Parts: sequence; structure tokens; C-alpha cells
Amino acid sequence: MNRKVIIIGSGPAGLTAALYTARANLNPLVFEGNQPGGQLTITTDVENYPGFPEGIMGPELMEQFRTQASRFGAECHFKHVTKVDFNTHPFKVWVADEIFTADSIIIATGATAKMLGLESEKELMGYGVSACATCDGFFYKDKKVIVVGGGDSAMEEASYLTKFASEVKIVHRREEFRASKIMVERVMKNERISVIWNSSIKEILGSKDKGVHGVILEDVQNKNTKEEKCDGVFMAIGHKPNTDLFGDILDSDAAGYLITKEGNTATNIEGIFACGDVQDHVYRQAVTAAGSGCMSAIDAERYLETLKNN
Ligand code: NAP
Repeated sequence: MNRKVIIIGSGPAGLTAALYTARANLNPLVFEGNQPGGQLTITTDVENYPGFPEGIMGPELMEQFRTQASRFGAECHFKHVTKVDFNTHPFKVWVADEIFTADSIIIATGATAKMLGLESEKELMGYGVSACATCDGFFYKDKKVIVVGGGDSAMEEASYLTKFASEVKIVHRREEFRASKIMVERVMKNERISVIWNSSIKEILGSKDKGVHGVILEDVQNKNTKEEKCDGVFMAIGHKPNTDLFGDILDSDAAGYLITKEGNTATNIEGIFACGDVQDHVYRQAVTAAGSGCMSAIDAERYLETLKNN
């Protein structure tokens, strides 16, 4: 059966698009992907999503998004899209050998924070390890935290964290930052921030019960290791938009983020829309992703109307 709309991705953007398209009677099919619920499912408390004054756990919030979209008829499948063909209309989407077609597609595949690749980092994600200072900084009032990275994100996260933390140490693998001069200057002037140069994190110490209590640092030059105490570790080594599926079919910027038209969510292919972090490297918040998911749904609905009239 040809669908009016297929949504790829199930974070705040995808599930908001699902809610809106479902309420518009478009009977959306949602492929949730390998991380159903998206990046919020690897955070714990979410305190900045409006409407939850007491905060809510990330996975629970996403479950509520899904329940709300399903209530109006969105079909959410825990399947991962493996291939697409946007050159013919209706558009084709594959899940392994199964083919699905739709008149419009909403891409909400998000972005993935780059990680160091340590087991302990994976294990303690949401329990002292974070990739979002805006989301989790508040939990580190008067604590010691480490920020990893040397780009603008690391500078921004470190500066932001000084609103809460008593001490912020930036761990960088070289002896020079790649961040812009102005952001480096701001960091260097901040008395609460210090830098550990030429170092990488070999291990994050802690447990899910008690959180993080330190890291093992390695000096990249002489390979000496030492323990550094801290209460939290913020990864700021970049994000990667999840666009592997789309190859060169859709316009993207130098960092790989999909380009959408000014003021709406249309991509360069008519009928294909993109929302959330896959097209936003600036705000990256659940609420902004949800907002752009709503925009995509309305854009798709309007596009489908034009098909009817032709
Ligand atoms: P980025 O510029 O790619 O910087 C990533 C940093 O992480 C680099 O310093 C890199 O080290 C380090 N790194 C990467 N992989 C690592 C690993 N495995 N282990 C240890 N360190 C690692 O990423 P970003 O800072 O997220 O910035 C992305 C883009 O967004 C940039 O264009 C940036 O200007 C922009 N941005 C702008 C603002 C702003 O203007 N307000 C804020 C945030 C981001 P090396 O330097 O050694 O490669």
C-alpha cells in the first residue's frame, strides 16, 4: 500500500511529525531506527522540556511522544531503514528486503554525538557522562567536571558549565585549540576553567549507582597515565548527522547536515522534508527538534494537497 507519508527517525522531531501528520489523517508510518526515541533515550532527567515542571526522564518523555502519536493513528515500527530511492515518485524506502512507498518523506534521523569509544563511557552515559551541557549542566552545581575536545563546542560547553560547576577542566589531545579565537580567549580568561593539554581519556571511573568520580588520563607524548578526580565528563568532540542513507541525493553542508529551505523544512527534492538535528547543528534541543518536526508535518501536508490538485 502506498503511504501518504513515511517518517524516518523517532526522536522529538520524528515523533512530533508523526503526531501532526496522524492528526491530519495522513496515517504516517514511522521507522524508528536503531535508537528508538533518539538521543533523549540516553539521557536521564530532562528538566528543560516545557510542560514538565518537575522534569521527566528522557526515555519516559519519548515514550509519551510515541503514545501520543499512536493515539491518532501513527504506526511506529521498530525497524531500521536500509536504503532509499528518492529519484522516482512515489519514493521508495527499504527495510532490508521489504519495500515501502510514500508520496512524501520526512527525514528525522538526527545526529549522533561523537564518542571516544570507551566501554566505560557507554556504560556511564546519562550517569555522569553527557554530550550536552545545556541539558545536564544544571546537575553539576559546585562540582568538578571535565570537558573533552578543542573545538567551538568544547569552548562553549566549558564556558556554560562554569555557571554551575566550581571547576571545569578541558582535556584536549593537542597543545592548541581548533576553536575560534574569541571563544578560546573567553575560556582562557575564565578563572574556573583550566586546560589539560596533550592528553586523552583512557578510562572513565564510576558506576551507574554512584556516578562518575574520576578519569584516567594519558599524556599523548610520553604515555604516562594519571588519575584525575571529577564528578562529570562532557564529551564535546563533535556530532555527526545521521545521513549515510542519503548519500549525495540530498543537499548537505560541509559537515554533512541536510540543507533545508529558508523558513521551512523542504529539501532540494520536492516532497522530501527534513527536521530536527539532521538539519540543525546550532540549537540541537528536544524542543527545537519537536518544533521543526511540526513544521515538517505541515509542510508535507501542504505538499500532499498540491498533488491532489494536480
Ligand atoms: P570540531 O570543530 O570538529 O572539534 C572537535 C574537537 O574534538 C577537536 O578539537 C578535535 O581535536 C577533538 N576530537 C575529535 N575527535 C576526538 C577524539 N576521538 N578524542 C579526543 N578529541 C577529539 O567540532 P565542534 O566543536 O562540535 O564544532 C562543530 C562545528 O560547529 C564547527 O564548525 C564549529 O565552529 C561550530 N560551532 C560553533 C559554535 C559557535 O560559534 N557558537 C559553537 C559550537 C560549534 P583536534 O583539534 O585535535 O582535531
